[in-house]
Amino acid sequence: MLEGIVMHPYRNTALALAVTLLGAGTAQADAPMVKTQAPGYYRNMLGDFEITALSDGTVQLPVDKLLLNTSEDHVREVLHEHFLSAPLETSVNGYLINTGDKLVLVDTGAGSLFGPTLGKLESNLEAAGYAPDDVDEIYITHMHPDHVGGLVANGKAVFPNATVRASQAGADYWLSQDQMDAAPEDQKDFFKEAMASLNPYVESRHFKPFTGKTDLVAGIEAIPAHGHTPGHSIYRVESEGQSLVLMGDLIHVGSVQFAEPSIAIQFDSNPEQAVDAREKAFDNAVESRTLVGSAHLSFPGMGHLKDAGDGYRFIPVNYDAMVEPVKPE
Ligand SMILES: [Zn+2]
Repeated sequence: MLEGIVMHPYRNTALALAVTLLGAGTAQADAPMVKTQAPGYYRNMLGDFEITALSDGTVQLPVDKLLLNTSEDHVREVLHEHFLSAPLETSVNGYLINTGDKLVLVDTGAGSLFGPTLGKLESNLEAAGYAPDDVDEIYITHMHPDHVGGLVANGKAVFPNATVRASQAGADYWLSQDQMDAAPEDQKDFFKEAMASLNPYVESRHFKPFTGKTDLVAGIEAIPAHGHTPGHSIYRVESEGQSLVLMGDLIHVGSVQFAEPSIAIQFDSNPEQAVDAREKAFDNAVESRTLVGSAHLSFPGMGHLKDAGDGYRFIPVNYDAMVEPVKPE
């Protein structure tokens, strides 16, 4: 019987703590909620390269109204199955690659072009231990504002030491006054924003377009994947036999478009070509078991693709705390 009333020392401590808290009148139940995340960066290794996914923030998109080759009802149904709804909180991600020799940033987020919920890439880069001055090269997937806006702040280059690279086809389209004049009125802002973002680098001769499949720094190559925009490019990164393909805007709404890759989005300049480019890149990634990263998949937007009959299945990366494994004595 006695044993029954002897308190376990651990429980005793917990009770003492509770009594102290209550007794001091400092119950924590009414502590104000913090309502912020940790800084938006996620690190992992790819062979000898360090990859840091950088969040630019999220933006709410009315994806039920934006997706093509489907119906609003169907999109809402699929979102519901994934415990989501429209408007959908949509990530905007960039990726930083430290090859050991070069620091390379793929896409720069929206900067000031998209409202207050985006434009966080620069502060997350700093939280991740780097400075904008450290960046040697910037590879742009395409010149939409949520990918190039972060290149400038108040008209000045945010990355003064970086060489900016993008496809010649993209530059010929988005940086052309003639193309802008010929574009419909509601598209003209896209041209103005692309020009404003790239101009400081063009003027300082830090913009170097490439044509077709091109080796950039050692271990990174550009691959054309046109359709989302004229000149949309993806970037293949390889180190010590491991590879990663950064896919830009080949996909926007993972919950819907992995299973039904024929669904396009109104942002696609050429939806049919965008669907073809997606399937080609996804098939390659399935076959080669390559890691993929994409600008609008839920942060950090990295994982592997599996064949799933008519579509694909996305398996997000496993969390890596980046702790050196303990070596046996
Ligand atoms: Zn985008």
